[in-house]
Amino acid sequence: MKNVFFATLLLLLSCSSEEDSEFDLVISKVNLIDGTGAGLQENVNIRIKGNRIVAIDTDELGQKTHVIDGTGKFLIPGLFDCHVHTSSYERDFPRFIHFGVTSIFITGGGLCTDSYYEEMRNIGNQDSLPAPKVFHTSQHFTMEGRHPVKTYGSSMWQERKTVFFLRDTLQIERLVERVAQQPILGIKLTIEDGPHPPLVERMPQEFINKVQKEADKNGLEVFVHVSDNVELQMAMDANIRNIVHFTGVDLDFQRDDDLVNKIYGDSISWVTTLMLDKSFLYPLHPEWIEEQKIQEVYDKDYFLAMENPGFVFRAESYLMDLQDYMKRDNIELRDVMAFQVEDIQELYKNGVNMVLGTDTGNDFILPGYSLHEEMQLLEMGGMDPMDILKMGTLNAATMMKAADKLGSIETGKIANMVLLDKNPLDSIKNTLEIHMVIKNGVVQKRITE
Ligand SMILES: [Zn+2]
Repeated sequence: MKNVFFATLLLLLSCSSEEDSEFDLVISKVNLIDGTGAGLQENVNIRIKGNRIVAIDTDELGQKTHVIDGTGKFLIPGLFDCHVHTSSYERDFPRFIHFGVTSIFITGGGLCTDSYYEEMRNIGNQDSLPAPKVFHTSQHFTMEGRHPVKTYGSSMWQERKTVFFLRDTLQIERLVERVAQQPILGIKLTIEDGPHPPLVERMPQEFINKVQKEADKNGLEVFVHVSDNVELQMAMDANIRNIVHFTGVDLDFQRDDDLVNKIYGDSISWVTTLMLDKSFLYPLHPEWIEEQKIQEVYDKDYFLAMENPGFVFRAESYLMDLQDYMKRDNIELRDVMAFQVEDIQELYKNGVNMVLGTDTGNDFILPGYSLHEEMQLLEMGGMDPMDILKMGTLNAATMMKAADKLGSIETGKIANMVLLDKNPLDSIKNTLEIHMVIKNGVVQKRITE
């Protein structure tokens, strides 16, 4: 009897000491914006064990737990940038983490061989070096002489290694089977005819249809690059469900009602990339790079291109084209955003899975920082901060088919979170007021620390 008593006592003792270390980390008394679009919850504790959120409550804290005092602070899920290219992940990955971007979606690029993708996935899966979780597509599927090889002329593009040129529909089945052997989310497909003269023809519709059909057979998505309404229609005709840019599309919800209804009916995910427009205008606005949060992270020579006459000329022509298109003078960034964000809001309201992405890797789009610019552009165009945050978190995770593990601060999910000093619902600019970044339950080292 005595032995049983001692055994029970020991069990009780071990239980209570286990309770104290039941959590590896607690963020206490924090204002929570969980990423689902639900309202702010005040004064909650987020309890983490290993890499998971195991409880969200207002109970007393244990004695021995590592507690981060969240009083007066705001907790949001780790952010996603769902349109990324990089020419150096060693340089860029710490920048994403510094700015709270804990997951990225890489949609091809001149370096993206199978082995380069593998290196990026591996570094994204560990926690000792600051790096975001990496999702990615296949290498670009395009045609010879077209985007992106023509646009970004470089010796890095190598057929069958970093790009696939489609020549007939018969080869597509084999090509899709080949890329399906890699852990990709889907196929990057470029329909675009441009983007600048001499223009080439768009990819034929039968190629697009065949890629989507073969992707379906292999359990893959297709992530399509379109640059105007015609190409958008072609993608919709092929039943493609993911669009990686918004730039170039301008919907008239009455006139284009067939197209719009097709979009509403097909559970489409659509990445915003408003940063592309802003990036074209950057050389006309040297004051934009004077922000301290840019200056302390990016190299000075990064911005030398601001003064490059080619970029200045491109900016001026871009502005002139927009003035023609909008039939007015003195266009500012706000005007460029207004008509696009109006469309984005309408799509969002009608259940289209709108997602944040920047197309970083292009000139003047900064890995990490520009995701915050993307959010500011949406707010500038009239979008609500709560909706913007959902686009950069849960909606993004849904597009990545990872919403069971990522994208929101809920029990059972992986603890990827950003602790802010100011309320992002007051102004989305406050997402830059970062106190701490946590990935996989581990506090990350930021560049300025
Ligand atoms: Zn891109």
